[in-house]
Amino acid sequence: MFRCFTKEVCSLKRFTCLSLFPEIIKASALSSIGGRAVERGLYELEFIQIRDFAVNEYGKVDDALYGGGVGMLMMAEPVFQSVTKAKDDFRQSHGEGREKLIYLSPRGRVLDQQKARELSELDHLILLCGHYEGVDQRILDECEAEELSIGDYVLTGGELAAAVLIDVISRMLPGVLPAAEAWQKESIASGLLEEPQYTRPAEWRGRAVPELLLSGHAARIEAWRQHAALDLTLKRRPELLTKLPMTHEEIRTWLEAREQKTKASLPLLPGEQMKKEEKSN
Ligand code: SAM
Repeated sequence: MFRCFTKEVCSLKRFTCLSLFPEIIKASALSSIGGRAVERGLYELEFIQIRDFAVNEYGKVDDALYGGGVGMLMMAEPVFQSVTKAKDDFRQSHGEGREKLIYLSPRGRVLDQQKARELSELDHLILLCGHYEGVDQRILDECEAEELSIGDYVLTGGELAAAVLIDVISRMLPGVLPAAEAWQKESIASGLLEEPQYTRPAEWRGRAVPELLLSGHAARIEAWRQHAALDLTLKRRPELLTKLPMTHEEIRTWLEAREQKTKASLPLLPGEQMKKEEKSN
């Protein structure tokens, strides 16, 4: 299988979430595999309630926009105090480390696996979740925040985006999944889309698992998987193929296999399967 990521260098120790609604992040980050990883101490999750640094006793953390406009903006000072606490806390327990403030924002660069991988090599990520209209620009400039989006749409708050970022990064950290291979072989991380996969029973509602997968022939099965993944990627996301670290020899082998493709040696892709069924009906 082609590998886009070869070295085990993910070293992140702590995510600190700055939020007005931390329970949204907790619901995801403390469940399932991530929750167990935190319990096992594989990385730390800290939550700082921005309202703890409100500017008055009524818990005020937002105000109207200068120049007019709809909605409220999170004020610079409570956010700044939260960032300072996050940095101080980390220093107290881990000393100096490589850290970054990420502001989850639809204005940012869109997150992908490569970016997540780069961030996993830091020691401490501080995730600032905006709400309402967002946050005062001056705190972002003061703390040199990097803006990161999870897609071209607008969410109500940055919490779901922070949960996504934590999920993507944490599953690359050593020990979280049973083996680094588990995430390196998956869609996108491998450089390809994953091939069609099957589990028991061998036949389900008249649909059979490709015979080769039942053969026990490891080398042929691996070749089948690789070619199926390449085929699917060519169909759905051809632009991914241009970034693959494939040798000319590997490309030639794959193209030859495509030429000689027999129904027995390569899987039908989902679209082909449907067409075949339409024809036979
Ligand atoms: N007024 C902002 C704008 O037009 O860019 C959008 C504010 S949005 C309603 C509130 C918060 O949700 C943002 O401050 C940001 O933290 C978060 N957010 C919204 N969409 C996001 C996205 N696609 N990726 C990451 N965070 C997002």
